[in-house]
This record gives sequence, structure tokens and C-alpha cells, in this order.
Amino acid sequence: MAKERKDLTPEEKEVKRRRNRRRRLLVYGGLILVLWGFWLWVPWEYDFIQRRGPHPNPKVDPDSEKLFHKGTKVMVVTAHPDDSEFYIGGTLAKLHDAGAEIHQVIVTDGDKAYYGPFTNAAENRKVRRVEATAAANAWGGTDLVILGYPDGRLHSSETLVRRLQKAINDFKPEYVMAFDFDYPPRMSHGDHRHAGEAVALAVEKTPSVRWLMRFSTSYPNYVSDISEYWPRKEDLLKIHKSQFFGSRLERVTNMVEDSAVNDGERIGTTYGEGFRCIQLQP
Ligand SMILES: [Zn+2]
Repeated sequence: MAKERKDLTPEEKEVKRRRNRRRRLLVYGGLILVLWGFWLWVPWEYDFIQRRGPHPNPKVDPDSEKLFHKGTKVMVVTAHPDDSEFYIGGTLAKLHDAGAEIHQVIVTDGDKAYYGPFTNAAENRKVRRVEATAAANAWGGTDLVILGYPDGRLHSSETLVRRLQKAINDFKPEYVMAFDFDYPPRMSHGDHRHAGEAVALAVEKTPSVRWLMRFSTSYPNYVSDISEYWPRKEDLLKIHKSQFFGSRLERVTNMVEDSAVNDGERIGTTYGEGFRCIQLQP
């Protein structure tokens, strides 16, 4: 039996229109709120407008004979407990073999691990400190300091810059290695960017530093040949068991290998690690 269709009065039509508008507002508003909350929660940053690189971007030699030399002091500042092995593990092992003295500062405590909603922060902190220490021992770091800022929420504050200045002035390195804040990959971790920014500010008042070598950069001007060190870099990644295991370890290793092959191609070697080097002192 056909349903009898009732014509709506103008008042009823108006009520229906309002009800639909309210519903639409609720659905779209809710969606925007959820997306906005998600954007605030994820630690990643994305450049909607791609940054233009330095032009020209000539190759630079950061006095590499001096860099890979007995007694040269190098300080590495990273954001998370696995960053140094991930980005420059081959170069660090090579530096150690050359006799350099390497101190490391890790700015956050890595308490979020993989940013899952139900991870135990205290346990993450503990495990990741153990892994970072084991990894630094494996490539030959002489000192490791974890500043303990919360993972995923780092900002370049005056206090952080001062603490980095103090660490650098106490050790007096000629070389500082840190994340590239000016030309990071288009999508990268906010902590990486902010740690790199804080280091760039800190080295303005640290007279010992001759070279700032920035890694995780879209515009390297120097590549360290790590062809001989690739197997050691693979082993260093495996030390961070809480982060890289099973198929994830395989995925991460392949990703790091692709990047090392790309960097190696720039200088005609099998594997490399790229840096954007800035000379601060003659
Ligand atoms: Zn990181």
C-alpha cells in the first residue's frame, strides 16, 4: 500500500530546515574538533608550504681531516634516545675509530616510545635510557646526558638553550652535530626541529665550536662515507629493541638504508650520511 505523503506547512518546513542545519553543524564541527585534537596530539610537523633551500648550496668540507682525528672533541645533541644511531650511527662509529672524543646530549627522555595511548611512561623512560647507554657504548661515546624533557612536546625555551650552552661550554667541542632546523625534511618530528633550533641558538655563545654539522637535512652540503660502517649501523639500530623489532626493525632498517644509499650517491660511495655544515669559527 502506498504511503500517504503529507505536505508540510511552511512552519514545519522551517523547523525541519533548522533541525538539519543543526545536525550538519554538529557533525562537521565534531569532525573539525577531532582532527584539530589529533593534530595537536601528534608530534609530527609538516610544512604546508615547502621551504626553499639555500641557493647555491656549494659542497663544504668541515675540515674533515681534523674531524676524523685523534682527540677531536665532538658533541652530538639529539631529541630522542635512538636518534643518533638512526641518523648518524655510521659517522659516530667512524669518528670513534679515528680517535675522536664524543659526548652526547639527549634532550627528551623518550617516555612516549611509539606514542601509543596506553604505554607506561616510567617504564619507557627506564628502558630507553638503558638502550641509549648500550648504543653509545657500542659506537664509543664517552659521555651521555639525558636532559629529561617530555617526549613529543619539546619547545626551544631559554632554559633549554642555557642548559645546552652549559653542556657545550663544559666540554668545549670543536664540532657540534644536531638536527637541521632550517631545512628539515618536509614532514618531521617537532622535537627534532625544536632541539635543532635550541642548538643553533646555543652555539651563538659557545666560542669553542668551529663547525655546526646538521643532520636530518633536506640540503646536505657534506656527506660522510659510511660504506665500511653500514653493518655496524645496522647493529646499532637493533640495540633499540623497544623501538625496532620484528617487521618494524626490517622496515626501519630498509628506510635508513635507502637514505644512506641516496646520500652515498652524492659522493659516489655505497653508503653515506649527509650533513649541512656551517662554519662558525675559522
Ligand atoms: Zn627522534
